[in-house]
Amino acid sequence: MREISAGPRVLLRRLREMLAEALEPQERLDRIVREIAQNMVAEVCSLYILRSDSVLELYATEGLNPNAVHLAQLRLGQGLVGTIAASARPLSLSEAQEHPAFTYLPETGEEIYHSFLGVPVLRAGRTLGVLVVQNRTKRHYREDEVEALETVAMVIAEMIAMGDLARLTRPGIELDLRRSVSLKGLAFNEGIGLGHVVLHEPRIVVTNLFNEDSDQETERLEAALSSLRLSIDDMLSRRDVAFEGEHRAVLEAYRMFANDRGWVRRLEEAVRNGLTAEAAVEKVQSDMRARMMHMTDPYLRERMSDFDDLANRLLRQLMGGGPDALSEAVPKDAVIVARSMGAAELLDYPRERLRGLVLEDGAPTSHIVIVARAIGLPTVGEVKGAVSMSENGDAIVVDGEDGQVHLRPQPDIEAAYAEKVRFRARRQQHYRALREKPSVTKDGIPVDLMMNAGLAVDLPQLAQSGAAGIGLFRTELQFMVALTFPRAEAQERLYREVLDAASGKPVTFRTVDIGGDKVLPYFKGAQHEENPALGWRAIRLTLDRPGLLRTQIRALLKAAGGRELRLMLPMVTEIDEVHRAREIIDREVRHLSRFAHHLPTRLKLGTMIEVPSLLWQLDELMQAVDFVSVGSNDLFQFVTATDRGNTRLSDRFDPLSVPFLRLLRQIVQAGQAANKPVTLCGELAGRPISAMALLGIGYRSISMAAASIGPVKALVCELPLGELTERMDTALANHGAKTDIRAELTAFAKEHGLSL
Ligand code: PEP
Ligand code: MG
Repeated sequence: MREISAGPRVLLRRLREMLAEALEPQERLDRIVREIAQNMVAEVCSLYILRSDSVLELYATEGLNPNAVHLAQLRLGQGLVGTIAASARPLSLSEAQEHPAFTYLPETGEEIYHSFLGVPVLRAGRTLGVLVVQNRTKRHYREDEVEALETVAMVIAEMIAMGDLARLTRPGIELDLRRSVSLKGLAFNEGIGLGHVVLHEPRIVVTNLFNEDSDQETERLEAALSSLRLSIDDMLSRRDVAFEGEHRAVLEAYRMFANDRGWVRRLEEAVRNGLTAEAAVEKVQSDMRARMMHMTDPYLRERMSDFDDLANRLLRQLMGGGPDALSEAVPKDAVIVARSMGAAELLDYPRERLRGLVLEDGAPTSHIVIVARAIGLPTVGEVKGAVSMSENGDAIVVDGEDGQVHLRPQPDIEAAYAEKVRFRARRQQHYRALREKPSVTKDGIPVDLMMNAGLAVDLPQLAQSGAAGIGLFRTELQFMVALTFPRAEAQERLYREVLDAASGKPVTFRTVDIGGDKVLPYFKGAQHEENPALGWRAIRLTLDRPGLLRTQIRALLKAAGGRELRLMLPMVTEIDEVHRAREIIDREVRHLSRFAHHLPTRLKLGTMIEVPSLLWQLDELMQAVDFVSVGSNDLFQFVTATDRGNTRLSDRFDPLSVPFLRLLRQIVQAGQAANKPVTLCGELAGRPISAMALLGIGYRSISMAAASIGPVKALVCELPLGELTERMDTALANHGAKTDIRAELTAFAKEHGLSL
């Protein structure tokens, strides 16, 4: 009797030899299928490859009619082979012809074979083809035989990906691997990016597929698995798990999976079949990915993607860290493709080389997206499958207007986009021409268009965009991109640089808004929080840790010596917090003046309005501050009880709705009554349609990403604001079920020839 695991090992060894030999691709394939047939004691072994026109073409066979090679074809989903390709699952049958999907291809002469085993040829979860063995007798293929054939299929997938088979395709026909695909997502930042894919976490390329000694390799796998388990336990035992950037629940799921017998058994089996430990992880990961792609249940998809992450970790354990994306040359026109990533990681890329960003996750107000917007990077989010469909270096188009991504685009699509890019460049020129023009509506009402910033990289935009000043300087970004708390001198240096760049234009510095979704990996002070958005964050945290606030305020006071300093407090919930912050500020002012420091000429203190409780103390708040700024991102999140980072909800409720706009109007009216300036600095300010709504309800100062200033200014200059105000008043007076403010605004824009 044949020894169960010796067969596959011998086969893999033979395959390795064949891959190393200098053979013509067809001959290599022919020898591979012959070898598999012999090894698996099958009369037939055939390889079908998926073409870009969704046809599976017979590329090689041992046992079927050799004349059928490159002629026998099945559509995706047709016949047994098509079913395997479409489902990405193996199929094992002792009587193939009884299966409802069986399709008879007369040219192959396969009618004499009864039993059938087919497995998908998978790479990173994508189906590239199908590998089949057949026998005359009615027999059951054992589980270990299925695994063995899958292992061989993985080697073939690598061969296909290396481009080995490209030479066998007929002119005009492409392999599916190179097919163009268009993926739909959500437009997170407008703009068109044309370039080449850079996978943010490049798939670790396993080059060493075959093991020399299965026992030794099993030991390697076990060792990596146990250190993986230990590292997860270690992360879990730390009290500050929330600040490690990894949620406890995810870690707990990882721990469960790392001990999952099914997973571990499949890894061990692949190693016994002759793969290296890393190749085994890649194989099992690829099967998982394929399943994930065919899954609609979001909960299960999420769990599968946890497995995927875990497999990546294991690969890093085995391969010692894996390649670092940034150490490899980043092309001049890089489009970063990532599942998700941190704001700091994006800034690690050379900015001048970035053309676009594609995220499988992310939400329009998450920090990575805010940073992408700040640096003017066309961004599309929620593009499911983007990572596994892409290969480093693939041509790609990011359409941040329609929320589309085109991978390996056809020449006509690429040309159409290149034209769009030229068109946009002309429009940018138009915006630049507007730069020096005053920002005044058609009927003569001045509007302040300010920009949001947070890093030194933003500063050149101040002059380039023609912004009236910096309406929101998010000081926490410096903290978020650093490896440790920025020292007082570094803070002061940045603030001075900002004020110098502003050369007299107003700048509003917001004190650090950390906590919530703004995680500092090095800040060990916080406990895990169930609900970080509602937790110990921003002003709450800094009032409890006054040392942090004092250092920052001192740095700001010093940097603004001889100039005006505008300070703003984030996440204020009650007025007493303003008083307490003011005491700290006053103490710092006294301290600096005692040491004869050059003090700011004027100090203005304001608050963000992000927490709904302030809405019922607006009059008192206005008395306590010099100005306010509405943080519509957080305010909307809290008013509608909708996590701003939750992609499932990102489109569900519309801020341009009667209740939210009424509330925003109430704030601006309270400011007018108290004669205190009101600005709005959330993402709402940056889209022409919502900027228009804000002006229509009374806002005269809004702050947005620099790239939005041109389009918003173009709108302002053409806007008959008096007329719009009347329209908005009427629309907000009615709140019927059918009141559609967005439609109302669009109609108004159309009537007045405004482009939104
Ligand atoms: C906001 O909440 O709208 C805001 C501007 O602050 P951030 O986006 O930094 O939370
Ligand atoms: Mg906020």
